Amino acid sequence: MSEQRPFDVVVVGAGMVGSLFTLLLLQDPQLAGLRVAVVEAEPLRDWSNTGEFDPRVSALTPASLALIAAAGCGPAFAELRQCAYTDMRVWDADGTGSVHFQARDAGLPHLGVLVENAALQSLLTRALVQRPQVSWLGPQRWQSLERLAGGRWRLVLADGAVLETGCLVAADGPLSPIREAAGIAVDSHDYHQRALVCIARTEQPHQMTAWQRFLPGGPLAFLPLSDVHHCAVVWSLPEAEAGALGELDDANFRQRLEQALESRLGTVAAVGARYAFPLRARHARDYCLPGLALIGDAAHSIHPLAGQGVNIGLQDAAVLAREMQAAAGSRLPLAHARVLSRYQRQRRGDNALTLHAMTGFQRLFGASDAMLRVLRNQGMRWFDRSGPLKRQVVRLATGR
Ligand SMILES: Cc1cc2nc3c(=O)[nH]c(=O)nc-3n(C[C@H](O)[C@H](O)[C@H](O)COP(=O)(O)OP(=O)(O)OC[C@H]3O[C@@H](n4cnc5c(N)ncnc54)[C@H](O)[C@@H]3O)c2cc1C
Repeated sequence: MSEQRPFDVVVVGAGMVGSLFTLLLLQDPQLAGLRVAVVEAEPLRDWSNTGEFDPRVSALTPASLALIAAAGCGPAFAELRQCAYTDMRVWDADGTGSVHFQARDAGLPHLGVLVENAALQSLLTRALVQRPQVSWLGPQRWQSLERLAGGRWRLVLADGAVLETGCLVAADGPLSPIREAAGIAVDSHDYHQRALVCIARTEQPHQMTAWQRFLPGGPLAFLPLSDVHHCAVVWSLPEAEAGALGELDDANFRQRLEQALESRLGTVAAVGARYAFPLRARHARDYCLPGLALIGDAAHSIHPLAGQGVNIGLQDAAVLAREMQAAAGSRLPLAHARVLSRYQRQRRGDNALTLHAMTGFQRLFGASDAMLRVLRNQGMRWFDRSGPLKRQVVRLATGR
């Protein structure tokens, strides 16, 4: 029989959200003696600013950047290669509607920062393993999960270790094996699309601008990277079309990309390896069970068209860490029922709104109905000239 190890908190999944949650929680000096286990399936990654660009990127809002700083990682983050983008241009392939968002108009230095996921995850996990309270139990998966009396959970890991805790935090991504094993129901919607991602080198510089064109099959985004001639491409397409594009040789694929972006950045001179991700919206009906909380993509996954997925996950992490710190201050158990229900109340409604907005945008821009096309193009033109409303939307989208 393996040793049974009690932990105050067990976090499963050290992606960007699980790592940030743990770091934020441990910022509270009251929790200096906390015993935290982190279970992660993948090995710790090294990161170098001189390697090839990682095709998975995130557009972090100023609100997310503030959380990274609050977790004590601001200086290390500043060292990562990144692109603070000042503009965003969105236009409709089926008409003349377009919107130009500018940080300057809203009195902001930038709209957000584009960073490679591998870089941010490596930074956060490296900070995590240095915390004396953290036992890093990876790379490995758990094998069984048992619900005990009194809101406690027992997790048996692949190496036979048995963990027991009254506070289990699942940050294990969109398929969340913990959520599934715990029996939490999910509402889901299949977009029947895949996101094709790759790195592209362009003839013209990206001008610190995120470019997004809404095509009938789905949006195409060119997201600016630290080198002005490199962008991360995220192209959402119907499944069959994504499959066919994935099969093209590089020369033909580059040509298709350039046409799809209407040559706004000149020719596409080179592309890296292509990866495809099925797109499905998911929303857990409950974020919590006694002694258990879901955060990040484990609780909700959304369409990448507005680049909000990780940003709302990082807000979950911040709210849950804050509520648990408040519980510690009142000498309550960290996963007390009141703590978990306050967390769910603060996050589920907001996340549901974002999820529905993304699905609505995806449907609106995917619609081929002539009347809808006219209306959405007129709407974009009107919105682009709307001044205060546009400024307010920029402030909301950047978390200000
Ligand atoms: C194509 C695409 C483009 C996107 N672009 C953006 C963007 O521009 N901006 C944005 O905000 N969001 C974007 N997103 C969404 C964003 O990538 C996710 O919201 C984000 O990665 C979620 O982070 P997470 O930490 O919750 O989950 P994940 O990143 O999925 O991390 C989960 C972690 O759990 C681990 N794990 C899983 N199972 C187990 C197990 N059984 N045991 C132990 N560990 C386990 C995994 O190894 C992983 O490290 C995009 C998504 C896609 C698909």
